[in-house]
Amino acid sequence: MLIVMESGATEEQIRAVTERIRALGLRPHPIPGAERTAIGITGNHGPLDPAEFEILPGVQQAIRVTKPYKLVSREVKAADSVVTVGGRPVGGKRLTIIAGPCAVESEAQTLTIAQRVREAGADLFRGGAFKPRTSPYSFQGLGLKGLQILARVREETGLPIITEAVDEDSMAMVEDYADAAQIGARNMQNFSLLKRAGKSKIPVFLKRGMSATLDEFLMAAEYVVSEGNYQLFLCERGVRTFADHTRNTLDLAIVPAVKHLSHLPILVDPSHGTGRRDKVVPLARAAIAAGADGVMVEVHHDPARALSDGPQAILPEQFAGLVRDLHALAGLVGRTHD
Ligand code: PEP
Ligand code: MN
Repeated sequence: MLIVMESGATEEQIRAVTERIRALGLRPHPIPGAERTAIGITGNHGPLDPAEFEILPGVQQAIRVTKPYKLVSREVKAADSVVTVGGRPVGGKRLTIIAGPCAVESEAQTLTIAQRVREAGADLFRGGAFKPRTSPYSFQGLGLKGLQILARVREETGLPIITEAVDEDSMAMVEDYADAAQIGARNMQNFSLLKRAGKSKIPVFLKRGMSATLDEFLMAAEYVVSEGNYQLFLCERGVRTFADHTRNTLDLAIVPAVKHLSHLPILVDPSHGTGRRDKVVPLARAAIAAGADGVMVEVHHDPARALSDGPQAILPEQFAGLVRDLHALAGLVGRTHD
C-alpha cells in the first residue's frame, strides 16, 4: 500500500499517518517528493483497506501496489533515486565511473592503479578485500589488511571506496572502512546478508545474480530497502548462457527494463560481463548508450601478474580512452560527466 499525502500536508499529519501504520504492527517508509510526501507500507501479509488510511487528515489517496516489490518500484516512487557515495552522486544526470582492480593485492599495486584511474577521471575506486572465488585454492583476498590499504588509497587520492562484503562479519568490517558495500552476484540471494545490508549505515551496490531474472533481482533489492537502507544502486554483470565467446552474456536489455520498473540507479559491469579485455570498452560504451547510470570496470597496470581476473582487466591507458569516449557519449544520451 502507498499513502499519497496532499501537497500541503503538514509534518504533523505525516507523523500521524506513520504512527497509525506502526500501531497496526506495520512499517512506514516515508518517501519525500518534490510535490508531496508518499508513505510506503510494508509488513502486511494480506491486502490493506485503503479507506482505513484515506480518512486520516492530509491523506490524498491510498493506492494498492500491484508489483511484488514495493519500495524499489516506480509505482511507489516515480522520480529517479540518487544515492550519495562518499559525497558523490550515483544516479541522476551525471554518469558514474567506478574503476579499480578486481582484488587488492598490495599497497603499491592498489595505489598505483588508484592514481592512474583518478587522473583519468574515475569517480569511485573499487577493489576486493574479500574475494568470493570459485576455487578454494585461489587467492581469497587480503581481508582486513586489504580494507586498511583501501582506506589509505582514499586518503591519498580522495576517491571514495567501494568494496565487497561476502558475509555478515565482513559487512561489519566493510562498513568501518569503505564508502559503499558491494554485494556480489553469488550473494544476490543471500537473504541474511541482504537484510544485514539493509541495516547498514553505508550505501549498498547490489550485483545481479548470474542466473537471476529481473523480478528476482528487484526482489533482492527490496530486501535491502525494506530494512530501511534506501541508499541502494544496482549492477548488471552478465548472466550464464550457452555462449562461450565471453565469460558471461552481458544483458544490456535489463537496463531499460529496470529503469521502467524501478527508481533505483543501475550501472553495468562489462568486465565480469564479458571476461575479455578486448570486449570491455565496446560494451561499456554500449551500456551508457542503453541508459545505464554508469559503469564499473576492472583496471590493472600489470594484468599478466594480477592475482584474480587478469584476462578481463583493461590497462590504465585503455581506461583513460574509455573515459574520453564516455564524455563524448554522455552528451548524446542527455547525461553529463565532466
Ligand atoms: C567483483 O566485482 O569483484 C565480482 C566478484 O563480481 P561478481 O560478483 O559480479 O562476480
Ligand atoms: Mn573480478
